[in-house]
Amino acid sequence: MSSASKHLATRAIHGTSQKDAHGSPHTPIYNTTTFAFPSTAELLDVVDGKKAGSLYTRYGLNPSIFALEETLAGLESAEMAWAFCSGMAAETALFLTHGREGIVCIGDAYGGTLELLSSQLPLLGIKTHCILGNEIDRLDPLLAEGARLVFFETPTNPTLELLDIRAISLVAHKYGAKVAVDNTFASPVNQQPLALGADFVVHSATKYLGGHSDLTAGALMGSKADLMPVWNWRKNLGSMIAPETASLLSRSLRTLVVRVRQQNAAAQIVAEAMERHPGIARVYYPGLPDFPGHALACTQMHGFGGMLSIEVKGSGADATRVADRLRLFALAPSLGGAESLVTQPCTTTHHGLAPEERLRRGIPDTMLRLSIGLEDPADLIADLEQALER
Ligand code: PLP
Repeated sequence: MSSASKHLATRAIHGTSQKDAHGSPHTPIYNTTTFAFPSTAELLDVVDGKKAGSLYTRYGLNPSIFALEETLAGLESAEMAWAFCSGMAAETALFLTHGREGIVCIGDAYGGTLELLSSQLPLLGIKTHCILGNEIDRLDPLLAEGARLVFFETPTNPTLELLDIRAISLVAHKYGAKVAVDNTFASPVNQQPLALGADFVVHSATKYLGGHSDLTAGALMGSKADLMPVWNWRKNLGSMIAPETASLLSRSLRTLVVRVRQQNAAAQIVAEAMERHPGIARVYYPGLPDFPGHALACTQMHGFGGMLSIEVKGSGADATRVADRLRLFALAPSLGGAESLVTQPCTTTHHGLAPEERLRRGIPDTMLRLSIGLEDPADLIADLEQALER
């Protein structure tokens, strides 16, 4: 039985065929920049790609990186995966390889992604278009004009808006365009974009895949034909993951499924408690039956995730006071770790946007984004309740 035919939790643990000569169940850290060959002929076989093998770590030709990439590919049921030193490095390599004829970004996205798309790639002559989820009717004409890469997150940050991976992929493919989904928020446990028609999955592995707020990494998954042209960009941009980080990430992936399932369950409990709380105006969580994206989440997700946002009654300053009074939730701009985190989007991820632009995107100053960790949800609710007390 090949690893590909096994269930996700099994693939997360037995996802690599790399074997250790001494019997260790884990691929050791090959903490080396280069690999020696017995002869020039054997070196040339690897350089010319006639034989697979280790060669130079920045190229990704290192057993610690091979082991990680095989597991990453398995988690998204992809033919191949490339690992990167960050999520932004993975996105940059994707955009420079497959986005040069134009990129359409749908819905809200991570601030760094929006900055790269709207301010930096255009400096290189790459046409980019950022449209909101409720402007989806603009996709067809932009593809007709020549854009060949469609990129989006779902659920989005921080409003947890759901975008329809199947429907968007059908439209894009009609024009011969490729679809890339940033699956960071959902993780492979809750969503498998390639099975729904997407061509690429990109991850900030810094978040759920790493899961402990102790590593920065990225990943790109897709078909061999689509990923091979990315290899040279990654190599020459120098955006390779370090072997130590690759090994740490492989360690984290072994517990990905149990972590994310626990975070799903705890987030549902916290979301329901916040919905009942008199100090909360609105809760954004795909697992709540009256949330606008709930029906779509039920058809394209296997779990509703560990991220939710709440709107505090009162002003932006009241929301800041709630964030500052939280004790268990750390005030920190990341997500997906074992510890719960809180951010106020208007002071962090979306601070750079004008207030009217934040409102256009449905992000009021009273919004707090919660990343639910692995603490007992009863303690998290108690922390929120004491912070919400006036
Ligand atoms: N994608 C999403 C959804 C993110 O939240 C982030 C970072 O917060 C990134 C991409 C960028 O990832 P990294 O910080 O690993 O470069």
